[in-house]
Amino acid sequence: MRVWALCVLLLASASVPMLTSAQQPDIIQEHWYHTYTTLTADVNAWADDHPDIVDLTIAGQTELGKNLWVVRISDWSNDTKADGTDKEIVYIDGGHHGNEHLGTELAFLTAEFYIEGWAAGDQEAIDVLTNTELHILIMLNADGNDLDTRWNINQVDLNRNYDHHWNEQDETQPGSGPFSEAETAANSNYMNTVVPNADLYVTMHTGVWIMLHPWGYIPDQPIDWEMFHFIRDDVHANISDIPIRNANEGLYPNSGTSRDYGYGIMGYPTFTFETDDEQWLLGTVEALSDRLGEELEVMRYLIDNVWSWRARLEIQSIVLEDDELTLDINNLGRATTANATLQYIDSSGGLVWNSSNFSVNATNSAQVSFDTTSLSMTTDGTWELRYQVRIVESARWVSEPIEADVVAVVEDDESSFLIGYGLFNPVTIIAGFVAVAAVVQSEKEEEN
Ligand SMILES: [Zn+2]
Repeated sequence: MRVWALCVLLLASASVPMLTSAQQPDIIQEHWYHTYTTLTADVNAWADDHPDIVDLTIAGQTELGKNLWVVRISDWSNDTKADGTDKEIVYIDGGHHGNEHLGTELAFLTAEFYIEGWAAGDQEAIDVLTNTELHILIMLNADGNDLDTRWNINQVDLNRNYDHHWNEQDETQPGSGPFSEAETAANSNYMNTVVPNADLYVTMHTGVWIMLHPWGYIPDQPIDWEMFHFIRDDVHANISDIPIRNANEGLYPNSGTSRDYGYGIMGYPTFTFETDDEQWLLGTVEALSDRLGEELEVMRYLIDNVWSWRARLEIQSIVLEDDELTLDINNLGRATTANATLQYIDSSGGLVWNSSNFSVNATNSAQVSFDTTSLSMTTDGTWELRYQVRIVESARWVSEPIEADVVAVVEDDESSFLIGYGLFNPVTIIAGFVAVAAVVQSEKEEEN
């Protein structure tokens, strides 16, 4: 805590403190909900104090022109993880409803946990920020927040204004059309342009103490129910008894929400996180970090395990023999993939061959065989896996290169495995293709 800042605050405590460059001291921050002004001061102080991990940006403006601050938190000294692969991406927003202050504060506390944890050398925070980008838009409805009202300045319910089955449930004040409001248009634009590859989206509200997953617009379970139910059961077994349900049946039918949009259009795993039901006060006697401690633990669990909230295919082996390819494959993730293909790509990126579709259930293995009569391999071709990271139609596609040393070819005359060529070239030897084998063999000797 900065003593001089506390003095300033005590002097100004009767009115809204106009801080520009210093974090609010805990005695204020822990008990007094954020206004747009104090949030602006705090996020800018984070950016000033922690430039190595805090990259502050704006997603747009509210209808009245207030900045939609996004606190981006990661170890920005590296664009990727240590192994060169992309970092996982988490998207969080708070404050769709301006009178739901505890939800907004949970978004703030989540950011604070990782920022202060990193600064203190906490291993959990270091691990997360080394491998993950957190994008946290803490207060979406800043105009409504300052008026302590659910609606934005146009009297629209922002969480009914998204372009996903908009107004199908005959909603109260959903706006004149999908994304009619500056706040929701900016939020969806941020999702589509900056974090389309997120593997977790949590939107924070206040109401009934519950976590809601899709769908809201229909009573059906989401097609990726396996992943959502695993998270529910894991949270209940180890962290919290907070109810976790599909929104339509767990709370009430609603359409045009950011949660359904996030899953149905963006393909994210999404949760609406509702903290307890207090909406009518501007502060809390109990410290916020105590009051929301259990909720923060659930958030840490979701963030710490973001690597698992998708299908993660890992090939055990590919064996080519007599015009047949046999694939042994694991799915290390908690989501099933339903339409994966194995592809053979030539050196100019052209698709030479692809398998028929196959699926691999979450945390399971599969063995599948394909006809390779039409496959003609070259010395510089490569293998790739192409699949959707979840089953939902909107889930993103990935193309992942396959390490050559998992590919083996059985020669038809001797039926002997020739493993190891691929260590130096993605192509090993195809059955009966002894000429190719000789080429690869000579390259290998040169490289040695
Ligand atoms: Zn709400």
